[in-house]
Formats: sequence, C-alpha cells, structure tokens
Amino acid sequence: MPMTDFAHNLEAVRQRIAAAAHNAGRAPESVALLAVSKTFPAQDVRAAHAAGQRAFGENYVQESVDKIEALADLRASLEWHFIGPLQSNKTRLVAERYDWVHSVDRLKIAQRLSEQRPAGMAPLNVCLQVNVSGEATKSGVAPQEAAQVAHAIAALPNLRLRGLMSIPEPEATLDAQRAPHRQLRELFNSLRADGLTLDTLSMGMSADLEAAVLEGATIVRVGTAIFGTRDYSH
Ligand SMILES: *Cc1c(COP(=O)(O)O)cnc(C)c1O
Repeated sequence: MPMTDFAHNLEAVRQRIAAAAHNAGRAPESVALLAVSKTFPAQDVRAAHAAGQRAFGENYVQESVDKIEALADLRASLEWHFIGPLQSNKTRLVAERYDWVHSVDRLKIAQRLSEQRPAGMAPLNVCLQVNVSGEATKSGVAPQEAAQVAHAIAALPNLRLRGLMSIPEPEATLDAQRAPHRQLRELFNSLRADGLTLDTLSMGMSADLEAAVLEGATIVRVGTAIFGTRDYSH
C-alpha cells in the first residue's frame, strides 16, 4: 500500500474549509479542524502531526489510550478529543487523559467526568451531543431537553461546557445537509441567549463540512478525507 500523503490531504481539507468560510463570510481561522484518527495507528497521527495538525479525535477508549501512550513524547503539542459513545465504566480513562469530550449525551456521564478529572489538570472541555431530527446514531439528548441538561453540566466544577455537537443522518445535497446543522445552531443561539457562555459548534464531517461551516460550525471533525477509508476488520 502506498503511504497516505497526510500533508497533501490536510492541505486539501484546509482549502475546503477556507472556501466554505469565504462563502459564509467567515474568517477561515474561525473553524478548527479536528482530525479523526480512529482505527488508524499512532504512526499516522505522528505523520499528521509532522504535517502541522494538532487536534485529534478518537472514538474508542482502549484503542485511544494505547495511542495516547505511544505518542506521549508529543503530548505537549497534541490535543486529544473524545468523540465516541462513552459508557460509565470508561469515563475515568477519558477524564484522566483527554482535553475535550464532544459526546456527552447525559448528565450522569458529565457528573462522572467532573468527579474523575484529576486535581491539577485544567477543566475538561465538553460539548453536549444533541440528537437533532433523524440523527444516524441514537446518541444525544433530545433538543427539547438540551437546555436543562446544559445548565446542569455548566454547574459542574471540573468541566467547562463549550457547546453542542451532533452527527446528522448523511444527506446527498447541500441544502439537505444544512438543515440539521441549522437546527443545532439555532439551539446553540437560544442557549447563549439564555445565559450560557458557549463558543463551540462541533458539526460537519468529511462529506458535509461545507454545509456545517455555512451554518456556523467552529470545529469540523474530519477522518476519511485525511486518513483514508477506515478498515474495521481487525
Ligand atoms: C468517525 C467520525 C467522524 C469522521 O467521519 P468521516 O466521515 O470519516 O470524516 C466524525 N465525527 C464522529 C463523531 C465520528 O465518529
């Protein structure tokens, strides 16, 4: 297999983000790129890091703990974001190792992360995952519950609630892709109007990042377009 050209792929994704930001009348720097490295080995993260990428997203606790360990020498210049489904019995590993969790989908998980965040570490940045209409995964709070859960999370001592995250159903057209992202942005705006200090909309992946940027995404989570097609066979 030829080696993936991470520098080339990263540049192409950055160009897509910049073009979409331009179309939205936004500064390209207002959109951060999270490189989703799940299923790819530590050496691929290392290569993407060498190409200038700093923030990486992972979905599986054990796989990522091993990877974080293997890349311990780069820790000071890496940001680790947990973006996958999180079970109660795995929260401690995440609370001790990560900088962000995008996939907080119930108060109990947030409470455990706050309790288990080691003293002396910065507060863990979190997003509340919202199940906007037709979300492909069943994870996430219902939009009508989001305000109540968000206020409760914002009150926890060792977390910093940064915003909202969603994983909408794949759609083929730009307009169809924009609809759920717009819904998340409107919810985000209403929570801010309600007094929560939020600055993060985590939405958009390889196939729909343009739609997400047009609707206000501040972090896009991109895997395939950087690392290639995932192989789940082992
Ligand atoms: C895998 C994954 C991504 C990246 O998806 P691509 O289509 O490969 O860009 C983004 N967000 C979440 C939550 C994921 O699980």
